[in-house]
Amino acid sequence: MTERKIILHLDMDSFYASVEIRDNPALSGLPVVVGADPMKGSGRGVVSTCSYEARVYGIHSGMPISQAYHLCPDAIFIRPDMESYARVSSTIMQILTDMAGEIEQVSIDEAFLDLTADQSYEQAAQHASEIKRAIRDQVGLTCSIGIAPSRIYAKMASEQQKPDGLTIIQPSEILSFLSPLPVRSIPGIGKKSAQVLVNAGIRTIGDISRCDIQALQEIFGSHAVRLLQISRGLDCEGLRETGKRKSVSREHTFLKDSVSPEEILGFMHEMVLLLCRELEERDIYSRTIGIRIRYTGFISRTRSVTLIKPTREVRIIEQAIDGLFAEMWDQTPVRLIGVRLSGLVHSDPVQRSLSDF
Ligand SMILES: [Mg+2]
Repeated sequence: MTERKIILHLDMDSFYASVEIRDNPALSGLPVVVGADPMKGSGRGVVSTCSYEARVYGIHSGMPISQAYHLCPDAIFIRPDMESYARVSSTIMQILTDMAGEIEQVSIDEAFLDLTADQSYEQAAQHASEIKRAIRDQVGLTCSIGIAPSRIYAKMASEQQKPDGLTIIQPSEILSFLSPLPVRSIPGIGKKSAQVLVNAGIRTIGDISRCDIQALQEIFGSHAVRLLQISRGLDCEGLRETGKRKSVSREHTFLKDSVSPEEILGFMHEMVLLLCRELEERDIYSRTIGIRIRYTGFISRTRSVTLIKPTREVRIIEQAIDGLFAEMWDQTPVRLIGVRLSGLVHSDPVQRSLSDF
């Protein structure tokens, strides 16, 4: 068992541009710039995303579109089709949820996953490869993944080998990973702060780690403590609770793959008890009951059922789970199981159905 969390950060590669190229293969290999209309160099607005071929010309996200036009007038300039990107995004997020349980989506093309249940970095790395393959096969796009013992390190890791990268930073490697990186590699350190640091002779994260707290406080105020922790490899933040959690879930990894339905259902029922207690504490009910089964080799299957009335009654949820399990299990040895309750609602279903009349 690892003591620390195993966090994965996934970032799609030049997302908008990649969707455009996927949908119009004639664009592949060309500099593609998604953003405002350049109007032959007089356009206002900025570059949203550009392909790696466009980056060769020095074009990057956030750059004024007129500047991008001057750098490469022959680039293919495309207006963003947000509806299309949002559709692709929700397919990707669904794949991630199916393959890893709870996720924290942080933007249209980025999410954090908690892979602590994988128990080792070797397992987590295989899991990540499966996720990359599923996205490539089902969506036709590549992504870059970082795996590390905290949220921020995972995000920094996913930046390391774009596009189509997979970077794993184990706890023992954290310091050697961090120390040579420029201070700006820490998410949240912008141009201005970086410049102040550089002026003070602090260029790398290693330099920060050797600073004393007072010196950092002068520059970063109350953020200094956290910054020092990050630079010293001590950060351990996992997924953040997103404002509106859409589900509650639990999972269990078997030490030895299980083929015993009694054992599997026993664990699932235990999870139901804990989840129902959580619903009670938060005074909510669930409408959709789902289970996830992962076989050896990360092939995951999920199945869910939506009830007529939201509930948090243990017996009803157990029955639903028994039914789902009977439908989907084909005697294959099971490595991991999960239970998820979604379709969360606050109102008391009985009261509401009464007041409906
Ligand atoms: Mg991206």
